[in-house]
Amino acid sequence: MNIYPWQENIWRQLVSQLRGWPNAFLLKGRSGIGKLVFARAMSQYLLCEARRLPSLAACGKCQGCLWFANGNHPDFRLLEPAAYSEHAEETDTDEKTRNTEKKTGNQISIEQIRELDNFINLTSHRNGYKVILIHPAEAMNPHAANALLKTLEEPPGNTLFILVSHKPQRLLPTIVSRCRSVAMLVPGREAALKWLVQQSVNEPDIVLAQAGYAPLAALEISKGESQEQRMEFLQQISAAKLNPLSLAESAQQYPLSDIINWLQKWICDLTYCKFAGKARYHLDFTEKVQMLAERANPLDLAHYYRELLEAQRAVRHPLNTRLVLEQLAISYCRWVLNTDRAGNE
Ligand SMILES: [Zn+2]
Repeated sequence: MNIYPWQENIWRQLVSQLRGWPNAFLLKGRSGIGKLVFARAMSQYLLCEARRLPSLAACGKCQGCLWFANGNHPDFRLLEPAAYSEHAEETDTDEKTRNTEKKTGNQISIEQIRELDNFINLTSHRNGYKVILIHPAEAMNPHAANALLKTLEEPPGNTLFILVSHKPQRLLPTIVSRCRSVAMLVPGREAALKWLVQQSVNEPDIVLAQAGYAPLAALEISKGESQEQRMEFLQQISAAKLNPLSLAESAQQYPLSDIINWLQKWICDLTYCKFAGKARYHLDFTEKVQMLAERANPLDLAHYYRELLEAQRAVRHPLNTRLVLEQLAISYCRWVLNTDRAGNE
């Protein structure tokens, strides 16, 4: 289990203090930077049976490491929303790719927490430690969070909880206070670019900017179809003349969550460009952004951005996608392009 290059410093810091590890860690930071991989590496390090200090890595060869690599270590539990198990686990992808799943499938349930009781009360199978990894911790519904809190209040010995969270502000403060928080930072641009080049990503600077400098999210973007779709869509909305109804019509072919995501970054770009003269996310559309930013009004942009936030909340249960798209397109003409609000253009 390899951590990412940008995690090496924090890894060294953490594992060199192994003897002082608490019962619970909270790894927090934005999505797409490799927190889950890091949490798994911590788990394997603790469960490695041939770990010799001052070695800072699991051996990769002992029975514990082999089980861990095969995903069947008896002293390890990974708790994730049911919907996640159908996806690859190695990257902590943005939740937007998952919000088409059923709502309950996106939660960690109280049953999942209760099932831990047996696991916690049994003695460990191997070297004395047990590890429970919860990802993402904010997916615990309130019942699950309260049940976990009870366990954290009287932590069982030799058991390590690792909570991974993209949105720690959504966790119960009482849970947070019982964990040692570790802030996982977005890597510097150079380190991220270097890694993306190693992954053979084309135009790494373009996808990295789109991903808000989160490298794993950038890699994901570069692999998907969404890149081409994004460019088609941005071509349309940066045209001088725009018919909102036909925009809504053609935009139906793209996932609504993607459209809202592109638009949010687009509006950020326009706003940023207004003040700093350049785009931040859609670097390949810098010229168009500059052109539109000249005629845009920052207050209008802020207004439209709020509409996007509201639309984003509705994405999980869109009553009528077409209607949402039409509304967004009409508002776009009104607030961003400042063309006729009815969109007669
Ligand atoms: Zn080992």
